[in-house]
Amino acid sequence: MALAKKKDTPVALKREQKTGQPAEAKTAPLRNVCIICEQEGIEGKPVKEDAILGSIRAIKNALKIATNRRLIVCETCVPKYTEKRGRFEKTLVQYVAISAIIVVGLIALPLIAGGAFNFGALIFGVAIGAFITALSFTQYMPAVEGIEQKR
Ligand SMILES: [Zn+2]
Repeated sequence: MALAKKKDTPVALKREQKTGQPAEAKTAPLRNVCIICEQEGIEGKPVKEDAILGSIRAIKNALKIATNRRLIVCETCVPKYTEKRGRFEKTLVQYVAISAIIVVGLIALPLIAGGAFNFGALIFGVAIGAFITALSFTQYMPAVEGIEQKR
């Protein structure tokens, strides 16, 4: 077994360097799955990897429930996806703006009222801001390669 391992490792490493993907990903082919209609094994535009998806994957890997699926948006779901992505982006911008107003308000109001700078209020404001921003991620839609948002 030790011998077999020694023999396999360089090949696996070489493969990893070439594709930039872990060697195991090659042995188990990735199945496409549409993030909107959840249909499997269809063609579509690939979802861009981001911090959120990376974290979800890391958690799944840690729990050993990784599904080996490649997230895509199929041709039929593009309009639906564009709408959902647009809604998410709008919500995120709004929630970040609300968070900023709350944080600034909590810091500025006591100062305007003639009080001293309140460090507790700053921490409180940042915590509320982070919470509100996190709420917008209940509508989370990842970016997709080749689908541009109208702004
Ligand atoms: Zn679909």
